[in-house]
Amino acid sequence: MSPSKRQFPKHRVIEVERTGVYPDVWWHHRLACGHTEKRKRKAPAKQIACTTCGRATGLVVVDEGAAESAYEQKIQAEFAQRYGLALDDIQVMTYEEWGVFKVASVVLSFYREL
Ligand SMILES: [Zn+2]
Repeated sequence: MSPSKRQFPKHRVIEVERTGVYPDVWWHHRLACGHTEKRKRKAPAKQIACTTCGRATGLVVVDEGAAESAYEQKIQAEFAQRYGLALDDIQVMTYEEWGVFKVASVVLSFYREL
């Protein structure tokens, strides 16, 4: 397996702060190591990998966001096919738990002319 953020040292999340305005929202996770991990989604885990500590240990950073997007697109495609919707009408929220992506929620938007 290629190196990824999953191998980065995990640290306890002390505080989570939401910044920005939808759709440009960032979650700042303040970690026990003193660093802040900026993510597009709030991490449900009590401990998350610290990119800054990971870089310090020389681990290679792989774009984990890309893997997550690919996973979301797969779910989107499944729902689009099942309900005959456009991909844009399906919002998938995922989260990562111990290196495994899981679905938090799926929102389907049905538009009908009245
Ligand atoms: Zn750190």
